[in-house]
Amino acid sequence: MHPYHAWPFESVPNHALLSALWEAFAHGTLCLIAVLPLVLRSRRPLVAAAAAVVGGVAIDLDHAVAAGSLSLHAMETMRGRPDTHSFVVALAAGVLVAVVTRRALFGWAVFAVYAAHLLLDAPGGGTPLLWPVADVRELPWLACPAGIVALAVGSALAARAHAPRARAAIARDAGRGRVPA
Ligand SMILES: [Zn+2]
Repeated sequence: MHPYHAWPFESVPNHALLSALWEAFAHGTLCLIAVLPLVLRSRRPLVAAAAAVVGGVAIDLDHAVAAGSLSLHAMETMRGRPDTHSFVVALAAGVLVAVVTRRALFGWAVFAVYAAHLLLDAPGGGTPLLWPVADVRELPWLACPAGIVALAVGSALAARAHAPRARAAIARDAGRGRVPA
């Protein structure tokens, strides 16, 4: 199975705005699916869903930094995607968030959203998937749907593992709210 070569990645040839809108829609949707089990069990599902979509699309802001321009055409016709389009960076971001927030679940969510973004970009080539560890720049297209399903399953398992602690916290909060007799 060969990767689908489509770099530069203008999804709608010669139409930078439509390409960017499609990328934003596709990235937002896939990133949401990757963490959907967590979103559905969240106490604020709409906020969690919005964070997944916005975060998943915002990863592409590294194109603006690398291109030194906010021009969609400049961002979409670089020689390749920036180094921050890497699973190693995704893992580091997840670990960092887990350590800073002391919530492993938040760390997983950040990693899953980041990885879901990369899985859509990877089949087009020109993506430094393992920077700075190794030079792997593309994946077969099947990796995208298979990877998204794997991330969603991971999110479901993480949500299940977290559920008993969440229930205990709610019970504790309810206990604190009790009026003394
Ligand atoms: Zn991207």
